[in-house]
Amino acid sequence: MSHPCIICVAITGSLPTKADNPAVPISISEQVESTHESFEAGASIAHCHVRDDEGKPTSDPEHFARLKEGIERHCPGMIVQLSTGGRSGAGQARGGMLPLKPDMASLSVGSNNFPTRVYENPPDLVDWLASEMLRNDVKPEIEAFDLSHVIQAAIMQRDGRLKGPLYVQFVMGVKNAMPADERILDIYIETLKRYAPDATWCAAGIGAAQLVVNEWAIAKGGHTRAGLEDNVRLDRTTLAPSNAALVKRAVAICERYDRPVADWKTARRMLGLRMPDL
Ligand SMILES: [Zn+2]
Repeated sequence: MSHPCIICVAITGSLPTKADNPAVPISISEQVESTHESFEAGASIAHCHVRDDEGKPTSDPEHFARLKEGIERHCPGMIVQLSTGGRSGAGQARGGMLPLKPDMASLSVGSNNFPTRVYENPPDLVDWLASEMLRNDVKPEIEAFDLSHVIQAAIMQRDGRLKGPLYVQFVMGVKNAMPADERILDIYIETLKRYAPDATWCAAGIGAAQLVVNEWAIAKGGHTRAGLEDNVRLDRTTLAPSNAALVKRAVAICERYDRPVADWKTARRMLGLRMPDL
């Protein structure tokens, strides 16, 4: 049997609303409940954004603290990964939650275009976020929207700005950035292995590409991400009923490819994360 596959659930994100799909969890209690269902379905990492009382994205550490506490209480052992993404704040506000010492946090190491804006990650901000992750012992998940981000992460590991081994998420299918293209994924994997041989990787597809990217990642021995942040549909005409439904779809692909789904202990061991006292 091949090595276990870690499934990450991206529960909310910054963009989806109840108008897109009523199942998108917005309040902290909805987020905790949706994460719990996804945990039971097989997800071992929760990738988290938070919203303010009006449902708008925020980087408010107090919201992140409540979500982190809720997940730790209701999903014991699950890996909590907080987003430092640029849609929910600006500048150093993006890293204001890192002193909460979550298991992991997302980290973008370069800029690119998003559908309607520039996703700005200037070098000084990237270095500051990376230093805060080192200081708080938070493992970064490198969000690679471009091949240059893979190489930059490896350079940062080599010069000590990031602690290895790297865990890199290839995000494919964001409009105006890299498309979901299997040969590009192969180039990402090959480049990562060449520049950072001890690294592991995960892949996420946006929108309709979620399913095919889940399948490529699982077939190629990587880890994968599902959830309503990236995609609110099961197919062209059917809304996904829950985050858990999208996780179950990834679990079914793992079964087809003879990949056991990593439980939280296995996932923590594979990622070199601390084991919580439960
Ligand atoms: Zn995110």
